[in-house]
Order: sequence, then structure tokens, then C-alpha cells
Amino acid sequence: MDVVSAIVDQIRAALPEMRMLLEASETEAFRRDETAFLHAGQPLAVCFPVSTADVQIIVQRCGAAGVPIVARGAGTGLSGGAVAVDGALTVVFTKMDSIVEIDTANLTATVQPGVINAALNAAANERGLFYPPDPASYETCTIGGNVAENSGGLRCVKYGVTRDWVAGLEVVLADGSVIRSGGKNKKDVAGYDLTGLFVGSEGTLGLITEATLRLLPLPPAKLTLIAFFATVHDAGEAVAGITAAGVVPVTLELMDAFTIAAVDDVHHLGLDRAAGAMLMVESDLGGAAGEAELAAAEAACSAARATSVLRAADAQEANWLRQARREAHGSLERAGVARMDDVSVPRSHIAEMLDAIARIAAANELRVGVFGHAGDGNLHPTYIVDRDDPTAEARIDATRDGIYRAALRLGGSITGEHGTGLTKKRWLELQHGARAVEVMRAIKTALDPNGLFNPGKVL
Ligand SMILES: Cc1cc2nc3c(=O)[nH]c(=O)nc-3n(C[C@H](O)[C@H](O)[C@H](O)COP(=O)(O)OP(=O)(O)OC[C@H]3O[C@@H](n4cnc5c(N)ncnc54)[C@H](O)[C@@H]3O)c2cc1C
Repeated sequence: MDVVSAIVDQIRAALPEMRMLLEASETEAFRRDETAFLHAGQPLAVCFPVSTADVQIIVQRCGAAGVPIVARGAGTGLSGGAVAVDGALTVVFTKMDSIVEIDTANLTATVQPGVINAALNAAANERGLFYPPDPASYETCTIGGNVAENSGGLRCVKYGVTRDWVAGLEVVLADGSVIRSGGKNKKDVAGYDLTGLFVGSEGTLGLITEATLRLLPLPPAKLTLIAFFATVHDAGEAVAGITAAGVVPVTLELMDAFTIAAVDDVHHLGLDRAAGAMLMVESDLGGAAGEAELAAAEAACSAARATSVLRAADAQEANWLRQARREAHGSLERAGVARMDDVSVPRSHIAEMLDAIARIAAANELRVGVFGHAGDGNLHPTYIVDRDDPTAEARIDATRDGIYRAALRLGGSITGEHGTGLTKKRWLELQHGARAVEVMRAIKTALDPNGLFNPGKVL
């Protein structure tokens, strides 16, 4: 009997109830994530555990047989983290989707990794609470994926990213043992910060089987402002101005002219299509404090030569605008194949980064739409190409290289929130230096000496 049938038979015998897909026609839907132009492997099988005990058995059996494991949530990732590896078992966490507890006394939620971000928020909202990190994909992505990617979102300029909201984790290690880090304590500095180590580890150090997350009381309804500018450079200056003025809105999002047109074609919001860029600024302070916050943001926009500044007429219009921004990637996809990228820079340099993106894309004759969490200094240049263009991949690669180097020259990062995965490995050392990457390798080797988890990703 070959290794493949032996391991499948062993896992089937140990977990007869577990859903497991073997046929290529069935596993096909689990080979890729949302990253365009990635070459996915052929998984050995795809399985759907329902408990931590199931995950332990899978890890033990795979470890003994030397069969690698690729963890997968909803597959919305944008750096290839969940992309299948040849001969590896893909472990999908979507059936581990229980909200174990919402603890209103401690303002925490304990959830299994397959819980959808929006489902957690719906449950928290019913109790007057919310979980701040909200990736634009919040209606489909899982908490396990969010933790593994240390995801950001539209509220993160004020509230911080996933890392800031993970209080504790349960993790299955490469030998099949289970550890718990952190918990409900507001303060806890005993030993090394293992929770922080697993947040952002992209499925390479262990499998997250439960997460304890911090919640906050729901803030007042948002007030929303949109400002249009003649150029992205001016919009970038406005972001720097808002930051320097000490204004910390809950949302500070940017769309360039290409994205405005794409979004308006789909959502018919009557956006200013003659503008070079648009900022969406929101306050959740409520009342006079909210008005004052938006007034300060408006002053910074005017100082950066905004061509017009408007308030959303009501909550409904604000919701449409926010939803349209969340769907910017989908709107751009109508123009061709859209490869969404991700860089971040200190906010004082965002105007220069926007200029650099336009210059580098033009030099490579590439259409690019830029949007993103400008308040975090986090931009998503999105390259649009024709599906059958044989030069597209090479031109995208040249553009990416130029853009990452430009971000690093400005003191930025090759990725603000989408992770390293398969797509950014080449530039990791350029950002961190050889010695720091060696330290990362040492951590990987200590936790996963045989390279069981997500081989070929990140490092
Ligand atoms: C339209 C769109 C908008 C997006 N907007 C944002 C945004 O605003 N902010 C942002 O940060 N990202 C955004 N993303 C990217 C993506 O949604 C996030 O990275 C998200 O957190 C991935 O979650 P997922 O469940 O889809 O994970 P997957 O893509 O399935 O997996 C992502 C990574 O997590 C690992 N993983 C998954 N589950 C586990 C587990 N239980 N244990 C260990 N490792 C695990 C995988 O191995 C992989 O490395 C967007 C994506 C799309 C398509």
C-alpha cells in the first residue's frame, strides 16, 4: 500500500465521521486562495475536522507519515497562505465554527477558528459589544484566517489590528500536543508571549483550534465625510495632515480615480468621477465630539487642496459608501484580472508612496487602481491585466519589485496586512535583514522541526 492510501485509510479509520475529499474534481475548489497568478499544488486530500481532538489525530498521523499539512479557513487570503501544496493534506476549519462563549463580564469571546468574522460581530452586537478588526472580506473570512494573517480592516486605524484583540489561543503543535496561551486576563506577562508568536504565523507554526478575543462596547453611530482631490498626492497629504493633527478617526480610506470609476459603475453612488482621489473619513465618537473630529479632518483635507468635502446624508448613504469601498477589489475585477497588492509606509510618506506606485506602474505599462486603509499607511495597488495577455505576469512582477523597494526606502513594509505567504518570500530578507530571517527560521525549526506545517510558505 502506498503512503497516500495508507495515511488516508489511517485517518478515515480514526475519524470515520469526518468529511474528507479525495477526488481531484472535489479538491479543486480548495487549491487556491484569492491571489491571482499563483501556481497551486495538488493536495493529497482535503479534510474538515470538527474538534481539537480531530485536529490532534490528523497532525499525529500526518507527522508519523511525513505528510505535510496546509491549514485553510475561507480561502480569501491574498498572499497564497492557504494555497495547496503537492501531496499535502489541506485541513479546512470551516466546520469548527462554534462561538463557544461571549463573556460579557470580561468582554471576551471564545470561538473556534472557523467562525466567520461577521458572525462573531453579529453575536457580539446582540449583547451591545463588538470585535473591532473588520477586514473588507469580513462577511466570508474566518477568525482562524484573521489570526493566522494578523489581519487589518476598515476600523483598524483607531482600534488596531487582529494582534491587538487576541487575548489567548489554543494551538495544536507539530507533535500533536495542545497548548493554551493567554486567556481572559487583561494583564498577563508570565513567560514569553506565545499568543503574539502564533498571531501572523500564517499556518506555519501550529494549527489554531480556539481563540479568545477581546470585545468592546458598541460605540455611537458613525458620522461620515467624503473628500475629493484633484490628485492622489493631495489625498496622501491630507492623510498625513489628519495624522499630524492628532485626529484618529475610526475609518480613513482612500480610492484613486480608477477605483472611484470602477466602484461607481457597479454601485451608482454618484461619486465625483472627475476627481483624482477620494478619502472616506468616519468618526464613531458620536455627538459634539464626533462633529469636532470630522471638522478637524475636514480642515486637514482643505489644507491639502480638497476640491470638495461632503457629509453622508444619513446612515444608509454612509453604509452604501462603506460597502462600496469594501467591494473595491470586486469592482476592479470587472476591468480584467485584478491582482491586489499590499504595502504600508509611515503615514507621513503616503503621498510619496502613491506617486511611486503611479510612476512604477506606468514604467511597466500596467493599469493600476489604488485603494486602501490610508489612515494606516496601508495601500492596495491593484494591477489590472487582460486574461490572455502573455506579458502580464512578468510586468506585474517587475512592478511589484519596484513598489516593494520604494516602500522599504520610505521606511515601510512589503505587506501591511495580507502576509508573506508565497508571494512576498523573496523580499522578506530585504526588509528584515539576513540575521532576523535566521531568527525566524530558528523559531520555525524549534516548533516544527520536520517542516510539517505549510511548507514553502513565509520563509
Ligand atoms: C475582497 C477581499 C478583501 C480583503 N480585505 C482585507 C482587509 O481589509 N484586511 C486584511 O487584512 N485582509 C483582507 N483580505 C485578505 C483575507 O480576507 C484575510 O487575510 C483573511 O484573514 C483570510 O481569512 P481566511 O479565513 O480566508 O483564511 P485563508 O485564506 O483560508 O488562510 C489564510 C492563512 O491562514 C492560515 N490559517 C487559516 N486557518 C488557520 C488555523 N485555524 N490555524 C492556523 N493557520 C490557519 C492559512 O494556512 C493561511 O496561511 C481581503 C481579501 C479579499 C478577497
